[in-house]
Amino acid sequence: MRFLVSNDDGIYADGIKALRRALERIGEVTVVAPDRERSASGHGITVHRPLRTKIIKYKNSSTLGYAVDGTPADCVKLGLEALLKHPPDLIISGINFGPNLGTDVLYSGTVSAAFEGVINGIPAVAVSLNTWVDPDYTYAAEFITEYIPYVLKHKPPLGVMLNINVPHGIKPKGVRVTRLGSRRYIDVVDQRTDPRGRVYFWMAGEPEDIDDHDPETDLNAVKEGYISVTPIQIDITNYKYINELKKWPANNGEIFKKLNW
Ligand code: MN
Repeated sequence: MRFLVSNDDGIYADGIKALRRALERIGEVTVVAPDRERSASGHGITVHRPLRTKIIKYKNSSTLGYAVDGTPADCVKLGLEALLKHPPDLIISGINFGPNLGTDVLYSGTVSAAFEGVINGIPAVAVSLNTWVDPDYTYAAEFITEYIPYVLKHKPPLGVMLNINVPHGIKPKGVRVTRLGSRRYIDVVDQRTDPRGRVYFWMAGEPEDIDDHDPETDLNAVKEGYISVTPIQIDITNYKYINELKKWPANNGEIFKKLNW
């Protein structure tokens, strides 16, 4: 099995190291990851400047790593189109330091690296650890190593990836297949003044979970000590609303009539 490993915490992060080491036991690994932390970079790509790579060699390992001065999505694009000799069987992004739950998947560089694989027709999973302090990746790494053969066997449909979140500080109680919950942030923007008297803003905030009581959500699963597996997709069209939207007079010639087009 050939694996392409990426992340958004940077190529030197402990989580990607734990993932690489676990995967080296079951297949051939290539690491292509940002040369520094690029968390919350979403699906951004770099098109207005060149991308540079640096080859990384690991102790007691034949794995090759490429540190890229770009985003997680850049890394996977570069891996697939320029760096890897063979297309990988699976793209795995993580193990992220911090959860990627609910609405946060839209901002996540970890999830975007996996999505970039799915865009190119390659099965992909993102793995994140639900802690902001003292991460221990042991259970997450052991679980993902055992889970991967199932992903390859069942092959999620085209355009669908798996977003996995692992609880922290306990041995996980089991696996729950979930939907994305709704997580938003309160007190998001801190307004401060710099030493020269100019105002600046710092984005932070505390997460507020809207539906973490619903056992179908990823938020609830992880809170209850379960590993959450959510199938997420590229197509974010709301099919239910299409017919309603078609009925708007504005979508039925009214504006064109008014403008005499
Ligand atoms: Mn991260």
